[in-house]
Amino acid sequence: MVETTDLLKILVVDDERDIREGIERILKRMGYAVFKADRGEEALGILEKQTVDLAILDLKMPGMDGMELHQRIRAIDEKIIVIIITGYATIETAIDAMKQGVYDFIPKPFEPEHLRIVVRRAHEKLRLTMEAEALQAERARTLIDLDMEKSRIRTIVESLPTAVVVTNTSGEVVLMNPAFLKSLDLDDSFMAGNKLASYVQNEGFCDMVLKLSRGEIDAGGEPPTYELVVSGSKYLMARGQPVLNENNECMGAVVTFANITSLKMLDQLKSEFVAKVSHELRSPLSTIHEQLAMVLKETSVHETDVDQHLIERAKEKTHGLISLIGDLLDLSRIEAGGVSHNIQSIQVVDLLKSIVDFLGIRAQSKGQTLSFEPASEELPLFSADPMALESIFGNLIANAINYSQQGADIVVKAEQAGQYIQVQVIDNGFGIAPKYHEQIFDRFYRVKNDNTRYITGTGLGLPIVKGLVDSMNGAIKLDSDVGKGSTFTVLLPV
Ligand code: ADP
Repeated sequence: MVETTDLLKILVVDDERDIREGIERILKRMGYAVFKADRGEEALGILEKQTVDLAILDLKMPGMDGMELHQRIRAIDEKIIVIIITGYATIETAIDAMKQGVYDFIPKPFEPEHLRIVVRRAHEKLRLTMEAEALQAERARTLIDLDMEKSRIRTIVESLPTAVVVTNTSGEVVLMNPAFLKSLDLDDSFMAGNKLASYVQNEGFCDMVLKLSRGEIDAGGEPPTYELVVSGSKYLMARGQPVLNENNECMGAVVTFANITSLKMLDQLKSEFVAKVSHELRSPLSTIHEQLAMVLKETSVHETDVDQHLIERAKEKTHGLISLIGDLLDLSRIEAGGVSHNIQSIQVVDLLKSIVDFLGIRAQSKGQTLSFEPASEELPLFSADPMALESIFGNLIANAINYSQQGADIVVKAEQAGQYIQVQVIDNGFGIAPKYHEQIFDRFYRVKNDNTRYITGTGLGLPIVKGLVDSMNGAIKLDSDVGKGSTFTVLLPV
């Protein structure tokens, strides 16, 4: 960029010495470097050794005239700005010359001020041209940097050992890595650019990613996960995250996949082990329980109260162990997917009535009211295993009784809600603090506080309920707080 005048180099070509030197004087005073020539050939000789920014040429010269010299100069360096000096008689020629790329012309005779104005203007043009060029170069460099950054990110994603796929707001794959193809057992011929469903044939998963990509899933919450089974034996845990721009707008989603097959296997082994041990323990424990009952019956007359109390305690404890084993076996069955052997058409009103009647006795013994309020005497029939439904609602109602004070009110409601049967078990008992709402569905989790300390249980009831509801493609919700009571809502598809 030309910033100081002394950097500008000007070539002056005129056969008239007075004019040549006059111009030189003016320009030098302006701070420019000046090179002089009295003929075209000499000027070209200078240009072989020297670069210049501006050339002031006389139009009429012996030998090579100004126009020809202008053409030759352009051929050497078209950036040189050329100004023509000409007599009045040749103004038309000068205008022609300008059409051919000459920057300006100065008619002879001219005032020094006129020369200064034209040269300053040329200088300004030169400065602007150079600035524009610099800006363009800068822009090109930025584009190259951006391009390099993009390919760098691409390379990093490609070399990641973790499977990654990135989608746009339409749910199309814009970036994926070889680990993704490998994880999903896809060959190298798969390219980005298609809908996610072309790579992963799982409607639920594709739906989740599409919602995430459109920003329809709350970005502030936990990243949603999805368990996928590939080729029947490989288990993947997909975890998605929306991609937000600086204005917090959703631009797509990034999903990573972890292979959890070995964890699954371990879990299965553990379940099998628990099932086997529980099964082996159940018969001897039942025998001990029966024998203790018999001993109690036979000895009640002769033995002291203390002995009887001990045997009573031992019987209670064995009963507790037997129900724990029952729960463990139920859970193993649910985990193994073997819950729906006996599918029947069910009228949920009748089923709930009989559970409420059965557990009503227990509620009465605590001075509680247990009532059933179906929306109508008949709700749409639906197919399910009655044992599974008994287990779900039996557990929920038994919990409502167990975890409510003497004299509490428990209501069971049933109604149709769109495509679902909705059953609610509502109590005004101890309630559950929101921080435990997720944990109570974990195996063996029991809330410990002054209210629950003396209530026996296994912590397996709600995991069984949740496992069964999930296996029926239903949902379970909890609304509860300490002192407010609890409402468990179960939705089962009709
Ligand atoms: P268990 O009843 O054998 O302890 P569950 O899995 O059925 O196991 O329940 C887990 C925990 O959830 C219970 O220990 C209790 O603290 C809490 N809970 C369940 N239902 C209720 C309820 N209706 N009201 C208050 N707390 C409850």
